[in-house]
Amino acid sequence: MIRKLIGRIFGRKPKPGDHPDTWVKRHAEVFRASELGLDLQAVSHAAMRTCESLQQAGFAAYVVGGGVRDLLLGRRPKDFDVATNAPPEEVLKLFRRARVIGRRFQIVHVHHGRDLIEVSTFRAIQADAQTDAHGRVLADNVWGTQEDDAARRDFTVNALYLDPVRDQLLDYHHGVRDLKAGILRIIGDAATRYREDPVRMLRVARFAAKLGFRIEDGTRAPITGMADLLRHVPSARLFDELLKLLTSGHALASIQTLRAEGLHHGLLPLLDGIFASESGERFIQQALSNTDARIAAEKSVSPGFLLAALLWPQVLAAWQPRVAAGEHPMPSLLAAADAVLDQQSDRLAVQKRFAADMREIWSLQLRFERCTGGAPLRLLEHPRFRAGYDFLLLRAQAGEDCAALSAWWQSFVEGGDSDRTDLLAQPPGKGAPRARKRRGGRRRSRSEAQGPPQPSA
Ligand code: ATP
Ligand code: MG
Repeated sequence: MIRKLIGRIFGRKPKPGDHPDTWVKRHAEVFRASELGLDLQAVSHAAMRTCESLQQAGFAAYVVGGGVRDLLLGRRPKDFDVATNAPPEEVLKLFRRARVIGRRFQIVHVHHGRDLIEVSTFRAIQADAQTDAHGRVLADNVWGTQEDDAARRDFTVNALYLDPVRDQLLDYHHGVRDLKAGILRIIGDAATRYREDPVRMLRVARFAAKLGFRIEDGTRAPITGMADLLRHVPSARLFDELLKLLTSGHALASIQTLRAEGLHHGLLPLLDGIFASESGERFIQQALSNTDARIAAEKSVSPGFLLAALLWPQVLAAWQPRVAAGEHPMPSLLAAADAVLDQQSDRLAVQKRFAADMREIWSLQLRFERCTGGAPLRLLEHPRFRAGYDFLLLRAQAGEDCAALSAWWQSFVEGGDSDRTDLLAQPPGKGAPRARKRRGGRRRSRSEAQGPPQPSA
């Protein structure tokens, strides 16, 4: 309809050289962004420059997606994406450090100093899009108008276009209204949108948790019945989206939302296992809330560590019976680790380097039990020591039966040479950690001040 209207006004579908206004819908709601409380100064220099350069070359260029949404909410955006009517080859010509990424969905990465801006060309709505047998859209590189592009985005609050040069915000789907009301609403017919791209169901959980928004009823309704479609998504894509969810700073709330929506079961073996036992659930809750706290403190999180934590209850469940049956602990731990990783691999492409990290973190747990002789000092030199050690602290924090061991290692890590000599002479027993001799005049270590890690309630 709108395309027809534009066609009538301009006689044909707009083409790359046309005036930028040809590409934007005449009756989008138009706001002055600053009047909505959006701080234009918070738009990154790189995003601003990208828009300016494209506009100066005669193209339309807008900041879009999470950057705009988060600015309107007064939050600091993670990154900025730019949408334009310039096709990738034109974008490439304008920037010295730019390259095309992706095949199914091509975008241009534009680098300004250390900043990266993802520039995507407005996508057309394709009535005859190439899909797989389940309706999933396979190729998506047909260019369209901004209106098309907006209709193809996932949620109304993710489809706001900011022209940071003109201080203008274009809203095609009442995203501003939903944003003010705290509603997460999918654009178009929810079932159709999930069939086109089942990953959008995971995105519902991520954004509802991250934004603290209510999931609109029509957006929620089809999810439970359609969760199975996620099985046909390539495992690498699923892994990427799951990682976004786990590192969103709201991992715990996202996983709880997935559970509430019935998406945790049968979706990924990884999520199936999470709620399998009470102790496993407590461990994972602790891991996720620690991760969220790290992100809030702007610390890095390692995917290997996170995945090692999510799968640890399953590793334990596979390992303990082997040890009970008399197998040697280390080979049986490695065998349990491999069995758990194998079980994941057909649904979730855990990249090899992460899988290697995970194996090391798990096997270090057993090596921590040797607290005498030269072993502890040698372990300090292990390249993954820090991750393994943090993992041990997490286990103790979650109430696993390793409080004494964890306290011993904390003292060993933080202590000086003579503390370490004392500690090597007093390896931890089961149960309460042994009292340590304190020598006059020496600074108390942090672990002494805090005591052993407390099991979670
Ligand atoms: P974040 O701040 O977490 O990065 P975001 O909204 O920017 O949130 P991205 O995954 O970076 O999320 O995607 C950028 C934008 O691209 C989204 O806001 C949305 O408009 C669009 N988008 C991304 N993935 C999809 C999808 N699967 N279907 C439709 N639109 C999508
Ligand atoms: Mg983003």
